[in-house]
Amino acid sequence: MKNVIILGSTGSIGTQTLEVIDKLDDYKVIGLSAGKNISLLKKQIEKYKPEIVSLQNEKDALLIKNEYKNVEVYFGEDGLIELSQNPKYDILVVATNSTVSLKATLKAIENKKRIALANKETLVMAGDIVMKKAKENNVEILPIDSEHSAILQCLNTKDNKFAKRLWITASGGPFLNSTREEMKNFRAKDALNHPNWAMGKKITIDCATLANKGLEIIEAHHLFDFDYENIKPIIHPQSIVHSFVEFVDGSVIAQMGLPSMHIPIQYALTYPKRTKGIKTDSFCLFNKTLDFYEPDFNKFPLLKYALNCAKEGGIMPAVFNASNEIAVYKFLAGEINFLEIEKIVFKQIEKTKNILNPSLDEIFEADELIRKNLKISACN
Ligand code: MG
Repeated sequence: MKNVIILGSTGSIGTQTLEVIDKLDDYKVIGLSAGKNISLLKKQIEKYKPEIVSLQNEKDALLIKNEYKNVEVYFGEDGLIELSQNPKYDILVVATNSTVSLKATLKAIENKKRIALANKETLVMAGDIVMKKAKENNVEILPIDSEHSAILQCLNTKDNKFAKRLWITASGGPFLNSTREEMKNFRAKDALNHPNWAMGKKITIDCATLANKGLEIIEAHHLFDFDYENIKPIIHPQSIVHSFVEFVDGSVIAQMGLPSMHIPIQYALTYPKRTKGIKTDSFCLFNKTLDFYEPDFNKFPLLKYALNCAKEGGIMPAVFNASNEIAVYKFLAGEINFLEIEKIVFKQIEKTKNILNPSLDEIFEADELIRKNLKISACN
């Protein structure tokens, strides 16, 4: 039996993780954390009977505590750390938004727990620190992201010595064939209409700007220890090939499947094994066309900015991440138009003086400064 704690259980990945666990024999949920969706959390508590839960704020924590006397209840960032310190679990699924779970993830690594990582900020902001700690503690970080799961499956044994280049596929999002002029007038509802994947709002906008691909390249760099020169984004609108690896002998191995997050979630939980689980329908390529294109960096400059920040290293990936996050929430709130997202990010990058080999505190300071500059502290 494997005991699982899910940080962010009411979000898109959190709920899909529970659906996967429902179909696996030997996995039990013992801890959950949620933001503000209390009614869904209550349903999850009643169904999974976790021993420990954590809420975003104290008021909701008290409410849950009064209602469920047998459950240990915590709140805030400390609550997440409390969950990650629990001695009884095997796998921590990190599916929270933003930066709130970074410290809890580091604690779980110190406690030698497997990390199933859906949160992008963890590696984008502090990839060097997180991966160093994972290595020291002999901890596996398993990606819950279709592209990184694909690469992990292509590399198979994690022995990447004969792998030459990683190719990260991108659907291109809903505006792939739109002009810059048309993009100006796009509203959140246009961008939230993703052609292939069902995802949270923030990541769906990141797919529309291609910022998501930039973040994923940074993650791939840390997860698989590849230079940025050897990680390539490629547009593949059908989202059937989830990424591929090119080897020194000219061989290329790709991982394919219908676009569903259930598959990478299950693989992160059962790795290195495969098992029958939630996906029972068969895969068929009859009459399907697979297209591939080079990304247009001028039309989608956020991809370019992300890669520039990645290559500069230091605090720049954190600066990119925080400014992009705030800009996306402003766009979702209807405060700015679609093309202003990139302008906000560019301005913050320009303003920042980089710090190389930053400490965790310096990374958080950079993150907070950007949020302060853009006058928003937390997003939901
Ligand atoms: Mg992805």
